[in-house]
Amino acid sequence: MNKTFEKLTPWLTKAYALNAALILFEWDNETEAPEAASALTAHAIETLSSEYYKTIINNDVKKLLKQLATETNLTDKERTILKDLQKQYDSLEPIPPVKYQAYQGLIARAPAIWAKAKASDDYRMFAPTLKEIIEYQKEFIDYRLKASKGKRRPYDLLLDDYEEGFTMQKLDVFFEMLKEEIIPLIQMVNEKKDKIDKSYNYRDYPLNLQKEFNRKLAKHLGFDFKRGVIKESVHPFTTNLHNKDVRITTAYHENNLESAIFSTIHESGHALYEMHIGDELTATPAGGGASMGMHEGQSRLFENNFGRSRDFWVPLFQDLKDTFPESLADTDLDTFILGINKSAPGLIRTESDELTYSLHIIIRYEIEKMIFEKNADIDKLPDIWNKKYKEYLGVTPKNASEGILQDIHWACGNFGYFPSYALGNAIAAQIYAHLKQVMPLDDYLKSGNFQPINEYLKDHIHRFGKTKTTNEILRDMMGEDFNPQYYIDYLKEKYETLYRYL
Ligand code: ZN
Repeated sequence: MNKTFEKLTPWLTKAYALNAALILFEWDNETEAPEAASALTAHAIETLSSEYYKTIINNDVKKLLKQLATETNLTDKERTILKDLQKQYDSLEPIPPVKYQAYQGLIARAPAIWAKAKASDDYRMFAPTLKEIIEYQKEFIDYRLKASKGKRRPYDLLLDDYEEGFTMQKLDVFFEMLKEEIIPLIQMVNEKKDKIDKSYNYRDYPLNLQKEFNRKLAKHLGFDFKRGVIKESVHPFTTNLHNKDVRITTAYHENNLESAIFSTIHESGHALYEMHIGDELTATPAGGGASMGMHEGQSRLFENNFGRSRDFWVPLFQDLKDTFPESLADTDLDTFILGINKSAPGLIRTESDELTYSLHIIIRYEIEKMIFEKNADIDKLPDIWNKKYKEYLGVTPKNASEGILQDIHWACGNFGYFPSYALGNAIAAQIYAHLKQVMPLDDYLKSGNFQPINEYLKDHIHRFGKTKTTNEILRDMMGEDFNPQYYIDYLKEKYETLYRYL
């Protein structure tokens, strides 16, 4: 290990331990903690977070970073950790601490205000808070731009916080391509949607049997129960401490079979990524996914490209029918495959299907761009939102809770985050096309043999953690940078084939 880097290690070890405690609290709050616990627990969380920041952001670490910037004999892991730390410094340091604290207080309060406004269908209740959050964000962007003396666009700075290198220039091309190709496809599919009978999905599915089947499903995909657990939460998610402690959740609904199934597959995709991160990287700042988009690329690959294919269900469908013999008595594999791929434009992003999903993201992206690049009037956002839904998806929200207020992200200050979801869909399609080239993927899926698939993903993507960027991973694996054409080709082929005879 580099001598100067060695001096940084105690700080990193302490920061990791504090962060692990924060992650566990977060996990506990979502899964096991009693309802009344949150207010008092919040004090412990606050103390731990401020300790965490002090451990990373201080003059000793700053000096070490400066020294290390001139060193040339660093390993990939050391270089990645430095880059990550430097990024945290560059985004936090230019902001006056008093302002930063006030902002933290604001986004701690905002989700409750948002939730109340959403429950009352009243955007005006949330608008003043949203305006305040956006004003802070704009101010912080100014500080950061001044400090870096760079000429970057304000919204690019926010995008870069989540997905390095994916600027508006790149995303505009991606999203314009999508709009041009997907909107006509949605119209075709929408005309035929009533020909698909999906009533089987809403029958009686006892929760204990669902849990049993979902555990088997995760195991089928390669989820290692010695290094992972599955619990329940309202919104499914994945969290992890290191590659030997990866936790996912699922939400079960008595009268909806596929909801839990596809969230289990999705979160298992995230979990496999974390379980496969190299032992030398895990439990360090280099031991996470390459980017949010690459992480979502893994979950979507499993959920959609694999999980909604006919091949995938060949070895599983009989077991599913045996688990729910009455509710699935009259449903055969082909009916089920059409059902799980039924597409219909809707209002709610989290309930949307594979085909329409990215349009929900485009709408949020275009609005965020208007906010940070064109000073859009925050009071007019609901009208802008509704117009875009009408134009792209042909639907209009009846109220704010199924429109502008549906997502929590803006209340948490997460601007620039949404595009990662759409990038994840496109990255998944690109990896899927590549896997089909390098291995007999259909045969593996049909025989339920995930081992060679997981080995390949581990060797070419997962084990590198953050030491490679998303584009580096794609380039080294398939000789090509991010290319959204794969996603468009995949959707066109899939939906034209599925809907051909309807
Ligand atoms: Zn995800």
